[in-house]
Amino acid sequence: MMAEHSGIGMTSQRTRDRLAETLVKMGIKSDVVLNAIRNTPRHLFVDEALASRAYENTALPIGFSQTISQPYIVAKMTEALIKDRNLENVLEVGTGCGYQTVIMAQFTKRIYTVERINGLLIRARERFQKLGYTNIRSKHADGNIGWPTHAPFDGIIVAAAPIGVPEALLEQLAIDGRLIIPVGKSGDQKLLLITRKEDGFEEEIIDSVSFVPMLGGIDTT
Ligand code: SAH
Repeated sequence: MMAEHSGIGMTSQRTRDRLAETLVKMGIKSDVVLNAIRNTPRHLFVDEALASRAYENTALPIGFSQTISQPYIVAKMTEALIKDRNLENVLEVGTGCGYQTVIMAQFTKRIYTVERINGLLIRARERFQKLGYTNIRSKHADGNIGWPTHAPFDGIIVAAAPIGVPEALLEQLAIDGRLIIPVGKSGDQKLLLITRKEDGFEEEIIDSVSFVPMLGGIDTT
């Protein structure tokens, strides 16, 4: 492994193991998810100036007023999506820096990810390439409309909070597919796990959370 990927000091294996231990204490049970968190170089997804904080269990700024999600939340959402099943195709809304994307990419044949801020997407794509992921497809688009061409999805993971669940995402869910999405206004958000059944949708509240708002349209900066 290249030194840059394995990391030294604050990005060392010991630092990463400590993060995984924190997540276990917070209730993450899946060994495969914990291993993915241990083995994924989160410091390459933030600015060099923040690299020393990359293995703290916190959200960090990634520019454009957005943040990389907290590792606990990434682990929690991934765990909920992969529990007791093999995933073929997953949709992610809100690529951001691409960290959640590469964690999820380790558990599905293909992942489609959409981001409304072009500047973030360009940098995320560079990381996917550098790290050698070949099962990620990405698009500069408004995630409110999903990605109809590749639907239905057996998993959909949303990294920004709308006020209500977008209809298109429900429509693009396969039968028995799971949608994990934060919903509600700032300060009052719930993480929902929605499962599509033959005759409708089941909904479960997983956690109280704090995500950036899901916005409409695209941003070309
Ligand atoms: N999983 C990402 C989280 C980034 S924060 C990470 O770990 O880095 C959420 C992201 O959702 C932001 O980049 C924001 O620009 C994006 N976003 C917000 N509304 C969106 C929309 N309607 N369509 C696509 N992306 C959206």
